[in-house]
Amino acid sequence: MLCAFITILAVMDRKRYIKVVVPLRLDWQPYYLLPDGMDVHRGSRIKVTFAGRPYSGVVWEADCPPPPEETKVRYADDIEALPDITENELKLWQFIADYYLCSIGEVYKIACPAGIVRLDRSAKLAKLRESLDDKLAKADAAREGTKKKAALLEAIENLKTQIALLDDTLPWDPVQTKLSKAQTTALGSLRKAFLEGKPALLDGVTGSGKTEVYITLASEALSQGRNALILVPEIALSGQLEDRLRAYFGPRLYTYHSAQTAVQRSIVTDAVRKKPYVVLGTRSSIFLPHTNLGLVVVDEEHDGAYKQDSSPRYNGRDCAAVLAALHGARFLLGSATPSLETIYNCNAGKYARVSLKEKYFGSGDARVEIIDTTAEYKKNGMVGNFSRKLIAQIGKTLAGGGQVLILRARRAYSTAMQCTACGEIVKCPHCNVPMSYHKDSGKLVCHYCGARKPVEACPSCGGTLQGMGSGTQKIEEEAAALFPQARIARLDGDTAASARQEITDSFAKGELDILIGTQMLVKGFDFPGLQLVAAIGADSLIGLMDFRADEKAVQILSQLQGRAGRRGKAGMLMVQTSRSDHPVYKLLAGLSASEDFESELNAQRQAFGYPPYTRMIDLVLQDSFETRLENLSMLLAGQLRRAGIGTVLGPFPPQVDRIAGRHLRIIRLTMLRNKQLSKSKEKLLALVSGFESFHKWAGHISIDVDPL
Ligand code: ADP
Ligand code: ZN
Repeated sequence: MLCAFITILAVMDRKRYIKVVVPLRLDWQPYYLLPDGMDVHRGSRIKVTFAGRPYSGVVWEADCPPPPEETKVRYADDIEALPDITENELKLWQFIADYYLCSIGEVYKIACPAGIVRLDRSAKLAKLRESLDDKLAKADAAREGTKKKAALLEAIENLKTQIALLDDTLPWDPVQTKLSKAQTTALGSLRKAFLEGKPALLDGVTGSGKTEVYITLASEALSQGRNALILVPEIALSGQLEDRLRAYFGPRLYTYHSAQTAVQRSIVTDAVRKKPYVVLGTRSSIFLPHTNLGLVVVDEEHDGAYKQDSSPRYNGRDCAAVLAALHGARFLLGSATPSLETIYNCNAGKYARVSLKEKYFGSGDARVEIIDTTAEYKKNGMVGNFSRKLIAQIGKTLAGGGQVLILRARRAYSTAMQCTACGEIVKCPHCNVPMSYHKDSGKLVCHYCGARKPVEACPSCGGTLQGMGSGTQKIEEEAAALFPQARIARLDGDTAASARQEITDSFAKGELDILIGTQMLVKGFDFPGLQLVAAIGADSLIGLMDFRADEKAVQILSQLQGRAGRRGKAGMLMVQTSRSDHPVYKLLAGLSASEDFESELNAQRQAFGYPPYTRMIDLVLQDSFETRLENLSMLLAGQLRRAGIGTVLGPFPPQVDRIAGRHLRIIRLTMLRNKQLSKSKEKLLALVSGFESFHKWAGHISIDVDPL
């Protein structure tokens, strides 16, 4: 009795310490004291002050033993009225921090972006409904065919969509799709893999109907009372995918991406906590407070957009695998051109590989013609950037009412400007790259830092400048001269974001004849009338100083090929290159089998010790003083070599070794894929942090695990 009393007193008197994650790049977690009467657990949201500033933190550890320096610990400020972070979320953060060598605070910062508001759903719904009634009445009264009527109708559609997003009690009729025989077979193989507890790759050509398979699996998850997440590389390019998912899942479908407003994102965040859902989103949707996931799909798994290019440099595809495992969900990767990493996992028996090699609307596979521009020049077969063969094929296609899409991987008019007198190429004052000439603005533009300047005489000798290398603007101009009757548009990074949708929509509707653009055009779109696709200057895609260049070139060109010949019609791909005997083109032309190309690439990777046979980590070092950068990067590379952490390459300058006034060096580490890997990574992180603080050089080194 007395004993129990003493225990209670001791508990009452005990100071309670917690460890809190704050959204900062800290490699340790600050301790706080819990004020009397405040109760928290791991995952609770809490207000704290750190270094004199208020933060919204997350309790990482509740009731921990006192820290070494007890006197310095201050009290937490208050409870934050936000829902808890779930254990699965915390585990995912921990994985990312460990794997990508960043702090948990950095992960927290991107996982829970500030500005997520608490939402009163029913109040918001009532407001929207009121506004809808009002607009409906006004639209009734407005005269037919007027601008006012059109604006009202558009506002009504908009409101209806918003209401549908919020109100999941609305009924909806899923369009019932019947799967083809090939799809059914593929689905069977996928189910078998899932039963064995394996993730799977759906290796399906463009137009084979992978989406329908995703839909079937997602509705299966919903019918089992579980939820689904479908990841896409870029939301802007998945409009058609969204339409099809929307037709099927109605208000159960939520889209999520970083360009949404805080309110839009809050609606999704709120819904996944409480409702049955299918989320279609970009890589950041792995951080939603997911509940009971039954299916995680990564569409276009090979796509580089899954990798975040600032810290934490995580790969959404690979983290999605971890997320799926945490929830015990089925994990499916989809691609027409799977990455070597995924193929490696299939070959190792970790993933099941299921093929879907038949187009849903029958085989209208694009014919391929590789045009050797060097040979054509000699025969006088080129008109500007267009070969006579391509011109003839475009003419034929247009005459038959078909559409043409032309890929040129560089935007601008001229990709560089050279002095006709001294041969100098005009470079950006802040970056070590040539400036491109943009004819519409009449300016020289740096594509790395955005610097602009007027076109003047040669900066060294005053001579006249001349354009070299043609970009999309030049191609557009030449096409307009060659096909004056054609309706032509261009789509690239210079096209205003607001105009992009309109251009792809009008092309899809057949209101344009020729569309010219960069890689942006290659992904995701379904253009029913597209018969001819062409790549001009395809060499810029291959042979870069990048061991993945060939793999990427095949992915881009195959996707381009997949755009044509949809809906059972035969399409055609024409590629203009000066290196027509390159293996990439041989593969496209059907002169070598994809299995052979795959094993060739694999053999090269293995021989040179590249991923997926090894793990690669790039240390990217930057400084505005080149000498200091040189010295410190040499020093660090030396330390890494002595520490015996993997194989050390460099320091070497990257292809562009100065961007926005900052010089860059890379130290590349390759490590064996074995049990020591995570130990080596820990050692690396400790060494780099120690180096940064010893040389007072914090923030100059960024670590890129599995660089792309
Ligand atoms: P992928 O994603 O593999 O490139 P899609 O899913 O876009 O292929 O399918 C190509 C076309 O075939 C689309 O227009 C789609 O609507 C249609 N399609 C695929 N499967 C079915 C099906 N089972 N029933 C009806 N149409 C289908
Ligand atoms: Zn620049």
